[in-house]
Amino acid sequence: MEAAAQFFVESPDVVYGPEAIEAQYEYRTTRVSREGGVLKVHPTSTRFTFRTARQVPRLGVMLVGWGGNNGSTLTAAVLANRLRLSWPTRSGRKEANYYGSLTQAGTVSLGLDAEGQEVFVPFSAVLPMVAPNDLVFDGWDISSLNLAEAMRRAKVLDWGLQEQLWPHMEALRPRPSVYIPEFIAANQSARADNLIPGSRAQQLEQIRRDIRDFRSSAGLDKVIVLWTANTERFCEVIPGLNDTAENLLRTIELGLEVSPSTLFAVASILEGCAFLNGSPQNTLVPGALELAWQHRVFVGGDDFKSGQTKVKSVLVDFLIGSGLKTMSIVSYNHLGNNDGENLSAPLQFRSKEVSKSNVVDDMVQSNPVLYTPGEEPDHCYVPYVGDSKRALDEYTSELMLGGTNTLVLHNTCEDSLLAAPIMLDLALLTELCQRVSFCTDMDPEPQTFHPVLSLLSFLFKAPLVPPGSPVVNALFRQRSCIENILRACVGLPPQNHMLLEHKME
Ligand code: NAD
Repeated sequence: MEAAAQFFVESPDVVYGPEAIEAQYEYRTTRVSREGGVLKVHPTSTRFTFRTARQVPRLGVMLVGWGGNNGSTLTAAVLANRLRLSWPTRSGRKEANYYGSLTQAGTVSLGLDAEGQEVFVPFSAVLPMVAPNDLVFDGWDISSLNLAEAMRRAKVLDWGLQEQLWPHMEALRPRPSVYIPEFIAANQSARADNLIPGSRAQQLEQIRRDIRDFRSSAGLDKVIVLWTANTERFCEVIPGLNDTAENLLRTIELGLEVSPSTLFAVASILEGCAFLNGSPQNTLVPGALELAWQHRVFVGGDDFKSGQTKVKSVLVDFLIGSGLKTMSIVSYNHLGNNDGENLSAPLQFRSKEVSKSNVVDDMVQSNPVLYTPGEEPDHCYVPYVGDSKRALDEYTSELMLGGTNTLVLHNTCEDSLLAAPIMLDLALLTELCQRVSFCTDMDPEPQTFHPVLSLLSFLFKAPLVPPGSPVVNALFRQRSCIENILRACVGLPPQNHMLLEHKME
């Protein structure tokens, strides 16, 4: 791969101005209509002008649940990279890196060189992006441990690395947070010693003050808020309570039922800060979504897509995409961290179960040859395998002529080392999207992406999308979406993998 991270597109359609990159882009797609049982496909074309501001801001990230495994690991990862730390392990010295981050460790093909070979650059080189080493962290936690102690409690990092990071993390202390016991498992009460007192309205005000304080004291241009605290139970959507922005704000004012995560979402939106939900619960109730719409603030969710689900969204895409009929998907996992303990309570587990269960819907629905409408693989209750109980990830598909293909996977990894680079990507891509605007030949008024930032789907287990938009779970479709939108912003056509140059005589 080329070491040079910089490139320029030489085209009359792309202008690199002092403030922005402006690209003319032809969006070619199709519309399908049904006429008398026949599908008619109409190619369409819309001319877009994309504008991406080149000035990268000083970005602050506030983590709710900063002292948790994910929060402390992400903070440690950025410090370890910034300080270029290395540490001994039983298999040799390890150096800090950003493996697992799409933007830092993934690449994009720019095309073929004179020898007909593909030229790749890091994802982060396509458009100006905040460098992860420049991020500034702050956040809240109901547990008062400083970040060094939190890192030790998490037991994620090698001891040699922890020792070097300790002096840099000791001074970082989470701000007090909102604790409403009924939303997380009772087993979390022991660590809840760092709380914002007062009414819901006063708590909301305090969170808003915290955001403003961080922004000014750290000299930041922008702040993004990311929920990586424990999974809450689902919150009932009730007309009059949280169904509209107005009702949600009134609910907070009156001290009626609102979850801590929704309170953080509302505070972020009112401060003009993007809010991203890394846990499965329905934080972004309709009232919060409407508020985001009114304030033109990005929101994204739900639930980081790290391990099992990522594999599922690749494997089922592979199976159904190859024409195999997947009949059952059985997932089992156990873990021993605090997240696992919180999820051992039924209401919190239910939130996780729901966010995991819809992951294959789009792939099943994309193949009417294999699945009749409404038919889908069995998930947790698995009649297809009878009463043979398994405790692994198991995918059973039908082959031609009555054959059966059973794939069994076993995965061992540090959960937080998978989640931390995803959190990083979420912050960096959201910030980039805030600098992109566009207009079309039909609508010359510049606009930004829809406040529900579905471009982040690659990183979320249960992707939130704008009303009416199809949900795409298939991992490589999600990756292509990010790649191709970034390419469009520099006037490059979508990656089509056709390599026709190499298919001619
Ligand atoms: P963790 O239990 O180690 O950390 C969560 C932290 O949140 C704790 O320090 C806790 O004290 C704090 N907390 C709880 N309620 C809070 C509140 N109201 N305000 C502020 N802080 C609060 O868990 P983790 O492993 O870091 O995971 C965090 C979240 O991310 C979980 O909900 C988990 O389900 C989700 N998640 C994790 C992964 C992964 O791979 N690690 C993947 C997907 C989703």
